[in-house]
Amino acid sequence: MDRRFNCTACGKCCFGWLPLTLNDALSHAARFPLALVWTPVPQGTRAFSLTARLGTTIRLRNRKQIAALITPTAYLPPSFPCPELTAEDLCGIHENKPLRCRTMPFYPYREEQDQADLLVPRKGWACDTSVAAPVVYHNKGIVERTDFDLERKELLEQAPTMRAYADYVLKYMPWIIDSLGAIAQQPGGNVITSLSSFLTAIRQFDAVTLAAQQLPVLKDYAARTSGAPELLEYQRNYAGWAREMEYLARSKSPQDSAQTPDSPL
Ligand code: SF4
Ligand code: SF4
Repeated sequence: MDRRFNCTACGKCCFGWLPLTLNDALSHAARFPLALVWTPVPQGTRAFSLTARLGTTIRLRNRKQIAALITPTAYLPPSFPCPELTAEDLCGIHENKPLRCRTMPFYPYREEQDQADLLVPRKGWACDTSVAAPVVYHNKGIVERTDFDLERKELLEQAPTMRAYADYVLKYMPWIIDSLGAIAQQPGGNVITSLSSFLTAIRQFDAVTLAAQQLPVLKDYAARTSGAPELLEYQRNYAGWAREMEYLARSKSPQDSAQTPDSPL
């Protein structure tokens, strides 16, 4: 079966969380407030196998197993536009936009044959799926697959790094295992951890420079979400992570860095 789709550049999908490859997240650190989003998937579900390949597997206290994606994410409230969305609803960094935006509406965190529902525009989106739009999905295969393959390749290449981070977090914050186990029973739930915890755990990146880039972004979003009760969790996270980044940015080297005791993960 053929499915048609064309982006009319309405900008409506450029709001809220934007999952990023690790490369894209770090190269846009001066632009987006970044977090790590953990998405658990129970064993026995259709998404388990790919989630385990792209993320990690975790043994719960009841001996059951879950898989979890750990996704670097531009952590924006759902009502907030991407900071690069222009007043004309166009992408301000079109030539340099993240792989996630290039691959839209396809989603390499899912199997290729399981993409059809992503081609149905959400309410308010102006995607063209009429006969005038090109065929983009044929017999459960993506017709023009360059960006999908590139994004999937990056996700697979970064998986060992994300697993090392998961090992670190679950060793020092084992309560996250219980949270993930509980959330796995409710599709759509997540656990959020900070970029500073990632930079502290994985020492191969220039944590000092990245922290200096993130600090003004986090402070800006902390100010913009201040005073809105429905954004309290975002505000607390931005403010707490900004304190962590301040500490990290002052470190002489990543090895000097560590979590501040009062900061959220
Ligand atoms: S980077 Fe561009 S395409 Fe991607 S969410 Fe932002 S404005 Fe939209
Ligand atoms: S909602 Fe659809 S038409 Fe609008 S920018 Fe996103 S992909 Fe394009």
